[in-house]
Amino acid sequence: MALTRFLNALPVGDRGEAAIVGVPFDGTASYRPGARFGPSAIRAASHSLETYSSFINKDLQGRDVIDLGDLELAPGDVDGMLKRVEAKTDELIERDMRPIFLGGEHTGTLGVVRSLIKAYPDLMVIHLDAHADFKDEYLGSKINHATVMKRVADLISNDRIIKIGVRSGTKDELVDAGMDVPIPLDSIRQHWDNIVNKIPEGNPIYVSLDLDVFDPSLVPGVGNPEPYGLTWREFIQITRVLTYHNFVGFDVMELTPKYDSTGVSAVVAASVVRDLTLSLLT
Ligand code: MN
Ligand code: MN
Repeated sequence: MALTRFLNALPVGDRGEAAIVGVPFDGTASYRPGARFGPSAIRAASHSLETYSSFINKDLQGRDVIDLGDLELAPGDVDGMLKRVEAKTDELIERDMRPIFLGGEHTGTLGVVRSLIKAYPDLMVIHLDAHADFKDEYLGSKINHATVMKRVADLISNDRIIKIGVRSGTKDELVDAGMDVPIPLDSIRQHWDNIVNKIPEGNPIYVSLDLDVFDPSLVPGVGNPEPYGLTWREFIQITRVLTYHNFVGFDVMELTPKYDSTGVSAVVAASVVRDLTLSLLT
């Protein structure tokens, strides 16, 4: 069966401005598994979209974005998955292509960051998520979807992670992540574009977006839905600002399509990928 590619993305070729790679892995899912079906659902839903985004005012038509398909992964092998994600990111950087990863569980982000810090020692990460993902250990394991940003902080330090939409974690975990508790309600509803604009000019930025950052009324198809999430308006404000920064790559993680029988979650996820891709392209 021929692979369905993302929107109008090109097949494997020698060059491209950006490359899409699926990471169909949900080996550490604790509550509702199924994120391994995220990448294929995003690609299928993308065909309902225009290549032009009225929000970003740019078009994917004529741009060299390639879709490399999914990584081949052994179920449950977290270390193997991370090694393959890191090696693929290394390869894309070597070929001067900006990486776009579709998840899959959030743990995969660690593999990307392990690679990116070799090319960009001053990397900053914008982490959009309902959850802090900042536990030091979860169910006896150091590396999983609930610890992934703690492991990223081990690599780049927590003050280089900008957290957007985070509203769930243990109290100790949120404090460790540098959040105010109780979470000020206005901290979710603020103008996030102002925060993103405080990033030093030219500083490389990677965006890691867990789809549960959105309100579950917009994106119910995730493993761990949490109320009081971002609206589309807030997402677009952030995305527009990214156009003016040194935006080097992103991931869109944790789509679990079978928990949304309407399919809207996958369409929103595909729209997120389109609009972040348009902001990524110079
Ligand atoms: Mn989350
Ligand atoms: Mn997450």
